Amino acid sequence: GDRGIYNFAAGPATLPLSVLQRAQAELVDYRGSGMSIMEMSHRGKEFDAAIKKAEADLRALFAVPDTHAVLFLQGGATTQFAAVPLNLCAGPSDPADFVISGSWSDKAFKEAKKYSAASVAWSGKDGKYTALPPFDAIKQNPEARFLHICSNETIHGVEYKDYPEPRNKSGILVADMSSNFCSKPVDVSRFGVIYAGAQKNVGPSGVTIAIVRKDLIGNAQPITPVMLDFKTHADNASLYNTPPCFAIYICGLVFEDLLAQGGLAEVEKKNAHKAGILYDTIDASSGYYICPVEKSVRSLMNVPFTLAKGPDFEKQFIAEAAKEGMVQLKGHRSVGGVRASIYNAMPLAGVEKLVAFMKDFQARNP
Ligand code: PMP
Repeated sequence: GDRGIYNFAAGPATLPLSVLQRAQAELVDYRGSGMSIMEMSHRGKEFDAAIKKAEADLRALFAVPDTHAVLFLQGGATTQFAAVPLNLCAGPSDPADFVISGSWSDKAFKEAKKYSAASVAWSGKDGKYTALPPFDAIKQNPEARFLHICSNETIHGVEYKDYPEPRNKSGILVADMSSNFCSKPVDVSRFGVIYAGAQKNVGPSGVTIAIVRKDLIGNAQPITPVMLDFKTHADNASLYNTPPCFAIYICGLVFEDLLAQGGLAEVEKKNAHKAGILYDTIDASSGYYICPVEKSVRSLMNVPFTLAKGPDFEKQFIAEAAKEGMVQLKGHRSVGGVRASIYNAMPLAGVEKLVAFMKDFQARNP
């Protein structure tokens, strides 16, 4: 918005200007307390109210049922790669199924192998992670403790539009929702565990949110570090030790803003419109811009594309876009190309400016 640039970073990512301004106004003297919220006891009344409101607003956004606990954790989504098998599997020989749809689900799988007998139920690697499986092609082990998916692959731009049914004995589906959390409604009751690092859609890095079915809490493997045991945090309302107070406070402001926008269904409409004009521009470029992802699973959050003219032109594209105030468009170092991350907080005007630039760049460099 009004900061002179549009930030297309994949995470940490752009936050709503109104949220930043509100945090700025409250930074030095939080609501008349004479202190910043980052200087206060996490057990004091101000922070207690802030974390309770953040949880209540998040519950309202997703209509989280009473069957599920909301946890504010640390260590990033990466820590949940270990916490999930430690909490859900009895030991390293207990099976778990993973759909590998990109770099992030692959990392989750590799970490889970240390604490479970994790196996690959489907992999998109041979197709360069440009597709998702038809759900009946996922080879599920009926003995698996859970089926793990990554709902949106941040690097490859592959997003589930619906979710597979877990066909394992416990019926547990687990999702890493780091990069599309709060971008659309989700039926939480279908999931055993949802986890997400905050730093894409909902706040600063440092807090990781987990929504966990309560009956799955309390069975962690004996070797589980106290900080990775869901029970530790569920029993202590996410205040077992000092939480990332400031990050949780900002998430709370973002949740309030999402509710004020009309909730996640409204937010999804905006996201679909933004992504739509960007994909339409790519597809109408006569092959000048190429998005390799299968149309039915293209991400509304992360839009990777290449230029048919090659890496030198991609470099020029990224540099010229930056000069015009559109920054952080470089693709992930592992795949190259261009990536526009257009999370909730990216204004429509930012995407409109990007597509205008794309058309102009093409016209100038045929
Ligand atoms: N999963 C996904 C889908 C991600 O995008 C990321 C971060 N880019 C991670 C996991 C890792 O998250 P963190 O950096 O919070 O550990």
